[in-house]
Amino acid sequence: MPFSTKHLKANKVKYVTRLDQVPQLSGKERVDLERVNEKFVFRSNEYYQSLIDWEDPNDPIRRIIIPEVQELDDWGQLDASNEERYTPVKGLEHKYSSTALLLVNEVCAAYCRFCFRKRLFMDENDEVTKDISEGLRYIREHREISNVLLTGGDPLIMSTSKLAPIIEKLRQVDHVQIIRIGTKIPAFNPFRIIDDPSLLEMIQKYSTDEKKIYIMAHFNHPRELTGEAIKGLNLLMRAGAIVVNQTPLIRGVNDDPDILSKLFNKLSYIGVPPYYVFLCRPTLGNEPYALPVEKGYQIFENARKKCSGLAKRARLVMSHETGKVEVLAVTRDKVYFKYLRAAHPDNGIRFLEFPRNPDAFWLDDYADPALPGGEEHPYNNPAGEGNGIFWANGN
Ligand code: SF4
Repeated sequence: MPFSTKHLKANKVKYVTRLDQVPQLSGKERVDLERVNEKFVFRSNEYYQSLIDWEDPNDPIRRIIIPEVQELDDWGQLDASNEERYTPVKGLEHKYSSTALLLVNEVCAAYCRFCFRKRLFMDENDEVTKDISEGLRYIREHREISNVLLTGGDPLIMSTSKLAPIIEKLRQVDHVQIIRIGTKIPAFNPFRIIDDPSLLEMIQKYSTDEKKIYIMAHFNHPRELTGEAIKGLNLLMRAGAIVVNQTPLIRGVNDDPDILSKLFNKLSYIGVPPYYVFLCRPTLGNEPYALPVEKGYQIFENARKKCSGLAKRARLVMSHETGKVEVLAVTRDKVYFKYLRAAHPDNGIRFLEFPRNPDAFWLDDYADPALPGGEEHPYNNPAGEGNGIFWANGN
């Protein structure tokens, strides 16, 4: 289908939540995928669907939002990084001392099939609260919190009139310096930005000379960087926001050095630095999208070879229960990791070395329970040494 969004400009982008609202799917596909939809909900919109090449069953943009039957395979856990463990009050996560997450919304402009927070979209979800007063109180009482990330769901799916008071209240807290907004709106529906001057006015007001608003954008594939998306990004930047991009490595979407380097380079031309590249968490239903750690590293490094210095600034990481762990290097026999952020302060600069395991999808897969101390994750035990791990911080 030829790609045209012209007709969308004058209209509101229409959201769809039923597979029978996607006319390009065959009757059989709809029946097969309905079973998936019952477990992991589908949501999309007209603009994003217009980016799909429907002639190609393996189209990468299609893979981002259209369900796959393999999602029903038994793999992973709903809360793979145990976010619950770091939730002191409803709707607020506090894992790293300087950073708190406020879950302000449980809806996105479309649902990524590989989402690690898909539990929020389920009926039984009780983690997000519209009343963020408890979360704000917690932030006010914890002076070590200098960064607050608004997330969910997608905060920019909220109207500006609902979002602005949250930002305003955060700006009244002296020790909160950076407000981040985690959003895939610039990719999923840039008209939300283009058509709402009040959003840009709000950013202009609260992204100040001394305290910025960061937009943590989420582009997975260079084809998402359409003219409209680039316009939306530039509007945000001109309003005074700092925009960076983070993406997971997703099988069938960007697991190709040519595609990934194109994404990194194109983002750098626009002025949006690639920040983190995530290995997919072992989340329930995500087996069709996940890549093994060592294969992911290879793709990532081969992509970086084709990038300028400005385009290759991203780091390859896992958001593990114990912290943000960077994949540093893979040699013939070993794989090396380092904590970039750690929940336990003693892990802050910890360096890990394991024998290679090409079948490993996650840090846990490198800890062998047959070894002494292996029943417990050794990286949960800051005093511990063993299980093939070399602590390089002098302990
Ligand atoms: S935009 Fe983010 S929170 Fe929303 S479905 Fe995609 S990965 Fe999940």
